[in-house]
Amino acid sequence: MGLIVKKFGGSSVGTTEKILNVAKRILAEKQPEDQIVMVVSAMGDTTDDLISLAKQIDEEPYRYEREMDMLLTTGEQVSIALLTMAFRSLGQKAISLTGAQAGMHTNSVHTKGKIVDIQPKRVVDELKAGNIVIVAGFQGADEFGDPVTLGRGGSDTSAVALAGALKADSCEIYTDVDGIYSADPRVEPDARRMKEITYDEMLEMARLGAGVMQPRSVEMGKHFNIPIHVRSTFTTKPGTFIREAYTMEEKDFVIRGVAHDEKVVKIAILGIPNNPGIAHQIFSTLASAHIVVDMIVQSIRNIEKNITDMVFTIAADDLVKARPIVDQVANNLNAIAVLVEDNVAKVSIVGVGMLGNPGIAARMFGALASADINIDVISTSEISISCLVKSSSIKQAVNAIHREFFPVKEQK
Ligand code: ADP
Ligand code: ASP
Ligand code: MG
Repeated sequence: MGLIVKKFGGSSVGTTEKILNVAKRILAEKQPEDQIVMVVSAMGDTTDDLISLAKQIDEEPYRYEREMDMLLTTGEQVSIALLTMAFRSLGQKAISLTGAQAGMHTNSVHTKGKIVDIQPKRVVDELKAGNIVIVAGFQGADEFGDPVTLGRGGSDTSAVALAGALKADSCEIYTDVDGIYSADPRVEPDARRMKEITYDEMLEMARLGAGVMQPRSVEMGKHFNIPIHVRSTFTTKPGTFIREAYTMEEKDFVIRGVAHDEKVVKIAILGIPNNPGIAHQIFSTLASAHIVVDMIVQSIRNIEKNITDMVFTIAADDLVKARPIVDQVANNLNAIAVLVEDNVAKVSIVGVGMLGNPGIAARMFGALASADINIDVISTSEISISCLVKSSSIKQAVNAIHREFFPVKEQK
């Protein structure tokens, strides 16, 4: 009841048949007094297909960031138009709006835009006129009116941000899984579905690769204190609530989940001066290009020569942009070499239960050791521990760690 924002991901609207089914489901469940705003992603693999199309013009299309946004935003526009037609064909008033029309104002960081303000007046007016309002996810417009996308998986963020701005009564994320699991169920067959998870733990899971929610969407949920209900498009059973604190019995765990990320690359700048300001020089240059650096390890290479190696990881998608920057900095610093490894992946455990619980890291490393998996780099946060491993062993790594913390026999 009330004002509800419902987001449907790409696989939920992958075909025209699915689009019609979504419209039918919404109408079957809609109470007469409900006001419904829908946020929709591009159909199926459309975004990937559009990227492949751009690659046929230039192998590195992300060099043309503004044009990538112009291209990628078309994907969501197809789905909003078709879904609106589906409602209209079923006799329901509905209207589609682009991100810009819905009042999603972003900065101008193309392909990685951030929402800076939302003025959803048009959405409110159309709701008042009795429409179901269907908004294109993943997109907004900057001060020049140019389309800007919010990073892969950005429709989640569009939905939660809109729910916050509209002071919606609930925000539901419909997807191809029936909730949040203790690991990606496509990789870990014994993953357990959660009834609820806190914003903080979900944010960490998402940041570390659990692609079911875009990290920024969880931040938005926390910011607006809107509970997010992640559930299946294809069943009606309740899924997982992401909220501030646990409300049910599910508090009794040390580790909340295992996340993994295969889209990682490791960069090593070898033989640079071991002097003050060097790390600043490397990482501030990357930061000004909006490249997020994740794991960082500095280790002495040669004590007599006072030189060191700097090893760090970035998202694989950022490599094209990062490589020339790193080469330039390495050149300025007279580095011996720059090595890039893309056959790496990151496996992480997440949970507030590990705070002040010293045995957890050892158990994670032990699980990897018993699966004969070598750890390349380790990093930690207050509520997570991450290990970089060879990408060929990532599934085994997830399975071994999951088995350690969620033994199958305890499941029932
Ligand atoms: P959508 O197109 O609906 O946005 P996504 O593919 O972005 O869907 O996200 C759903 C997918 O997230 C699932 O199919 C699942 O493989 C993956 N996933 C990764 N980690 C988790 C997790 N911990 N719990 C549930 N799903 C996860
Ligand atoms: N279509 C976009 C993507 O594939 C946004 C989304 O699905 O959330 O990343
Ligand atoms: Mg998604």
